[in-house]
Amino acid sequence: MKRWNGWGNLDTDYPVPPSALEYLTKRLGPLGPSPDAAQETLLAAVGESRLPAHPLVDVSAEARLTHTRGQSMHDWVDMRYGRTDTFPDGVAFPETDEDVRDLLKYAQNAGAYVIPYGGGTSVVGHITPPGSDASVLSLSLEKMRRLLDLNETSLLATFQAGVAGPDLEGQLKARGYTLGHFPQSFEYSTLGGWVATRSSGQQSYHYGRIESLFAGGAVETPRGRWELKPVPASAAGPDLREMLLGSEGRLGVITQAKVRVRHLPEADAFFGVFFPSWDQGSETVREIVQNELPVSMLRLSNPLETETTLILSGKIWVGLADRGLRAIGYGDTRCLMIFGITGSTRLFNRTRREVAALCRKYGGLFVGTVVGHTWEKNRFLTPYLRNTLWESGIALDTLETALPWAQVREASVAIPQAIVDAMASHNEQVLAFAHLSHVYRDGASIYTTYLFRRTPDPEKLLSRWQAMKHNASLTLQKYGGTISHQHGVGTDHMPYLPAEKGALGMDALRAVCQSFDPDGMMNPGKLLDIKH
Ligand SMILES: Cc1cc2nc3c(=O)[nH]c(=O)nc-3n(C[C@H](O)[C@H](O)[C@H](O)COP(=O)(O)OP(=O)(O)OC[C@H]3O[C@@H](n4cnc5c(N)ncnc54)[C@H](O)[C@@H]3O)c2cc1C
Repeated sequence: MKRWNGWGNLDTDYPVPPSALEYLTKRLGPLGPSPDAAQETLLAAVGESRLPAHPLVDVSAEARLTHTRGQSMHDWVDMRYGRTDTFPDGVAFPETDEDVRDLLKYAQNAGAYVIPYGGGTSVVGHITPPGSDASVLSLSLEKMRRLLDLNETSLLATFQAGVAGPDLEGQLKARGYTLGHFPQSFEYSTLGGWVATRSSGQQSYHYGRIESLFAGGAVETPRGRWELKPVPASAAGPDLREMLLGSEGRLGVITQAKVRVRHLPEADAFFGVFFPSWDQGSETVREIVQNELPVSMLRLSNPLETETTLILSGKIWVGLADRGLRAIGYGDTRCLMIFGITGSTRLFNRTRREVAALCRKYGGLFVGTVVGHTWEKNRFLTPYLRNTLWESGIALDTLETALPWAQVREASVAIPQAIVDAMASHNEQVLAFAHLSHVYRDGASIYTTYLFRRTPDPEKLLSRWQAMKHNASLTLQKYGGTISHQHGVGTDHMPYLPAEKGALGMDALRAVCQSFDPDGMMNPGKLLDIKH
């Protein structure tokens, strides 16, 4: 069963070893966990539904509570401190495109807003119901998860858009194929959600981001059905798929998605390399990408992230390895790189040799598959750490950007520093560290994680978080970074979007929303601050 106020399945935990809690206490100060609000308290706050009855709409307090928030910091604070004050009036569970069409008509007649709901894993406030006089329908795609067609000649698979990661890969694997889209939220996030937020999977360097995997599909909009035909390439004017990608539920409900699949790879493995310093590591990463070595992922942690990752792992062998590494010159400034290779056996062996040689050139210590394998084993488990830390009195959030290589070096220091500076003005410490996650020939994404102490007062916690988020957002924009490489805009990033898109660009986005949804019924207040 899914947790109603945290991440993931109730049966899964990610324990933090006592030595790691000691380390975090030293970095942040004494920790004082405060109790969470009881589920009954929140259920009691749900109130009467304003929607008329419909056979596909569940108006129970349980359904409305479990679809009211995602995974952003605001969402966590609302749910854990019991400060949630807006709920959808009902949750619809369609099974077919016709059901979705019917539900949009029903919402139109009831004057209701509609929020498409995939896996609810948004981290930027995409699915929060607006506080408004109008009723709100959350439209969950969870019953729409079938593989409708697999064309093995064109390597195109058509899925219902509510299919979540493991189910999608399971259905493809049974036929010998993979999509290869593995965001860290893989366990719950859905194909429709990936398209609507322009998501990026961990092996995007090999498989491509969702933009390149998404070939077309069907959308039910307030003005009717919109079909996007899959063609391998086209010069027939602007590509309309691009309007749908990242539209965050504002244009309609994606009901079907056609995706470009591949045969299952012969080989797929991950390796670890330690570098004596960040500069040596990031030069290696850049050279690997710019020399076009066919890795599937590259991730380089800065020294603080390397240290924290090793401590949080709690493994006995890590202590021994630490002493060994220090003895041979990989001390406090060391950085851990994980890289993956995916593809044919022939390509796999050659790439491994070439990457290892490049790493050696920059002082990298190749440590084989143990570290890489541990990372792979835990990659979808790590989000559970947020539950454990929270219950120990620590809040955790992340933010991300992408920028050209010429700015990566400075920005990767300045962004975590902006977070530390913002907390210093509250006389508080924060642990802020970063890694390069997705890499491109012209630049990289910088993914920053920050941990700070919870406060008994939720408003105080949020004002501290807001100060850190704002300072980091201004800093990444100062270096020319995008406000989001993969999480999207939602409500949290909306204030920063005009600086990135410009006034004309914002007008164009507004016009697109108005064209598909003239009455402004689709997910109002997300991406753009308009309800028309
Ligand atoms: C622990 C964790 C790790 C994460 N890791 C990654 C990562 O590695 N890479 C990454 O890119 N993101 C990541 N995310 C962010 C999040 O998982 C993505 O944004 C994901 O694409 C959201 O998918 P979802 O199905 O959960 O959508 P939801 O959260 O349900 O919705 C997100 C937005 O998409 C819209 N939407 C959803 N489905 C549809 C549909 N069928 N039609 C129209 N609109 C729709 C919603 O209205 C909303 O605006 C992570 C989040 C968490 C909590």
